[in-house]
Amino acid sequence: MTARSPSTHAIGPILPGATLGVLGSGQLGRMFALEAARLGYQVHVFSPTAHSPAGQVAPRETVADYRDVDAVARFARSVDVVTLEFENVPTAATDAAARHAPVRPSARVLHVAQDRLREKRFFQSAGIATTPFAAVTSDDELTAAVANIGTPAVLKTTAWGYDGKGQAKIDAADQADQAWDSLDRQPAIYEGWVDYQQEFSVLVARSPTGETALYGPIANTHADHILDLSVYPAPELEPVAAEAREIGRTIVEQLELVGILCVEFFRAADGRLLVNEIAPRPHNSGHLTIDACRTSQFEQQLRAVCGLPLGATEPLAPAAMANLLGHLWRPDPPDWRPVLERPNLRLHLYGKAQARRGRKMGHLTALAATAEEAVRAARAARDLLG
Ligand code: AMP
Repeated sequence: MTARSPSTHAIGPILPGATLGVLGSGQLGRMFALEAARLGYQVHVFSPTAHSPAGQVAPRETVADYRDVDAVARFARSVDVVTLEFENVPTAATDAAARHAPVRPSARVLHVAQDRLREKRFFQSAGIATTPFAAVTSDDELTAAVANIGTPAVLKTTAWGYDGKGQAKIDAADQADQAWDSLDRQPAIYEGWVDYQQEFSVLVARSPTGETALYGPIANTHADHILDLSVYPAPELEPVAAEAREIGRTIVEQLELVGILCVEFFRAADGRLLVNEIAPRPHNSGHLTIDACRTSQFEQQLRAVCGLPLGATEPLAPAAMANLLGHLWRPDPPDWRPVLERPNLRLHLYGKAQARRGRKMGHLTALAATAEEAVRAARAARDLLG
């Protein structure tokens, strides 16, 4: 195949039989590749590490560094569209890929999502309420942020943060300096601490024609900054569902997203909805859509990036998802039989050989007659493993 300029990329639907490229090779890429195979597509993953979760199930894998732009170009020439499972792919790689195949989501979306400050400024420009924040790149800015926003607060590096990494809580003004030191004084964002009643997410897929499909609100609970449990539908969020979904739709329309995007929200103690952050890819909180919804978030990502009609999103049963983290391995895997024996539970394992504390090794989804029962079943099942 020869290089094409972005304007000449095919705009018609990309049909089964085509090859889909995925930048990134973790569990999100793995679950995408499994859905793609079901629909008759080939998947080629670009993997920064060998023996990756996605590489184990995709028919083609390139193992190379994202900065190896020649490898990225070869990869992009072999596929009909490039999507991703990791938003922090370096711009050099997405630019190299875009010379040979459409990249969905686009560089513009990644530019916003890769930097917490740009992300917050985007929310402001779109009229979307977010946490109070200030940029911190100098001692003077840190002092001003503490004075203007107050404490408690959290300082986050603007780039490369996930699962609470690159973050430091500040409970009193005199801790601010030490907090920034702990982040190696990298460019950071100072955020007011939100006293929230609930964290939740909304997932929105958008196709090249502007069609959208939404999931959520999905109620989320974290432990040690890592998602622990998700529940959908979440009856307690019903009063804010329409507002949250509207915010989700506004975000993907303003970004002209093609793909799927997760919006993470806080429902503040006073009832206001604040957007915390966005991730332009499938999300851990959407894993329950595999077992609970007519169309999973991964199939929806595929439909969106291929320009196919989007699928129905409604849940077929209340569901709760519990993450299975590395400490359950100790170091051998748990006995899976208690989970496998129960008909309302579905087990998903990501094929990771090394179990480390806090590492996402798999998840389980419980389906039940009510959300409450699903939560009880998911927690009880995980307790049996632990
Ligand atoms: P993040 O990486 O921004 O998603 O942060 C990880 C988790 O830390 C969130 O899901 C929250 O549980 C917590 N968190 C982050 N920022 C704030 C904030 N401004 N106020 C309260 N909790 C926060």
